[in-house]
Amino acid sequence: MTNDNHQCRFCASPNVSQIIDFGSVGLAGAFLKPDQFAAEKKYDQQLYFCSDCYLLQIINKVPPTVLFKDYFYFSSAIATLRKHFRSYAKEVTEKFLIPKKSSVLEIGCNDGILLKPFVELEVKTVIGVDPSSNVIETIKDPNIIAINDFFTRERALKIREDYGPINMICANNVFAHIEDMHDVTAGIKTLLADDGVFVFEVHYIGSLIDEIQYDMIYHEHLFYYSLLALQNFFKGFDLEVFDVKPVDIHAGSMRYYVRHKDESNDKSVSLNVINLQKREREKGFDKLETFQSYADKVAQTKTDLMALLADLKQEQKSIVGYGASGRANTTIQYCGIDDRHIDYMIDDAPAKHGYYTPGSHLEIKPRSALEENTPDYILIFAWSFFNEIIEKNMAYLKQGVKFIVPLPEVKVFSWQDGQIVEENYSETDDADAKIVSMSEHK
Ligand code: SAM
Repeated sequence: MTNDNHQCRFCASPNVSQIIDFGSVGLAGAFLKPDQFAAEKKYDQQLYFCSDCYLLQIINKVPPTVLFKDYFYFSSAIATLRKHFRSYAKEVTEKFLIPKKSSVLEIGCNDGILLKPFVELEVKTVIGVDPSSNVIETIKDPNIIAINDFFTRERALKIREDYGPINMICANNVFAHIEDMHDVTAGIKTLLADDGVFVFEVHYIGSLIDEIQYDMIYHEHLFYYSLLALQNFFKGFDLEVFDVKPVDIHAGSMRYYVRHKDESNDKSVSLNVINLQKREREKGFDKLETFQSYADKVAQTKTDLMALLADLKQEQKSIVGYGASGRANTTIQYCGIDDRHIDYMIDDAPAKHGYYTPGSHLEIKPRSALEENTPDYILIFAWSFFNEIIEKNMAYLKQGVKFIVPLPEVKVFSWQDGQIVEENYSETDDADAKIVSMSEHK
């Protein structure tokens, strides 16, 4: 657990310790074709904790242009996300904006999943910034100003020149992705109107720890935030988190509401912030030991999953992976899953079809492949979308295909007597299967 001369990416402290070493892995978002296998680049991936500012972080650097130039993630492909961002837009517009007089800008707007609802709500100026050319160019709405670039302080100055200060800046599932957080946050500080609000959602460290969601950890996600770490960071920019809201998306995120800090005003910080701060200290998100015991639990989930897959392969069962996401690629590479375990991967995004997963080189096919080649088991790597996936694949479940969920603990689901049941696959043969309802399993 030496720091190998590393420094915290936020506070530059040398007081950082290694938590998990994932080894040298293919980039989780770098899907590839067979003719690219030989030249595939691998990168070290190590998770560190800073005992001074409490930031949990990937210490190794990969140039952002490598990660985001061509991107395979289209937010709008996921129905749960379309619904989420529609209600998000409505909620924050009602709370903070006079639509016809307001401007909104989203950092990492992707295919416009949040911006389109803002247009429908008649927000006057709607701007999106995203470096992924192949994704942002799918926004065809003339009411959206789509800027194909990284958001930087320089870019923020130019936007301010063109459109004035922005009333609401949003950034969802991107605050963990940004290499130079100091520059981007300086840009937000510069661009946000004096009484403006910066709203962002990001995966919450509490979910990562409590639910052993180590599959969120890959190079694209450089930072795993607690409120405590964010407060330490924002202090340096005279910004303050004034409210927080847990959101049930991506298996447990947090929405943060941020504004300019102004000692002269008496705007109070919400009780939600005070309570979350207290809870995080109780849970030890400011202590190295918390993260060390987390690493032990992560290693146990790998042992359990690989034992199950080994048993199934010994019984000559066929297994297909569902959801070729970045998260899947972490699980696959960390556990050492390959074509000895999984026949092929299914993904609903057409852009991924015909490509192979990084590192493990599993072919990605559309869902229709299940018809020709129905497996005995489907391993749901996109387990946080369990309900959506089960609903879509109910016919296979009913015809006897079993579904494996790898996290937070390994579980197997099957259809028995008109119900979904969680099977007991452990050595204790006489244990009863447990009936589960879809709402119970998130
Ligand atoms: N906001 C969408 C959502 O919540 O579904 C997309 C999230 S996606 C995981 C991250 C997006 O951030 C990608 O579209 C990526 O291209 C973009 N991105 C990465 N770095 C960025 C930066 N410095 N400035 C703006 N966008 C960035």
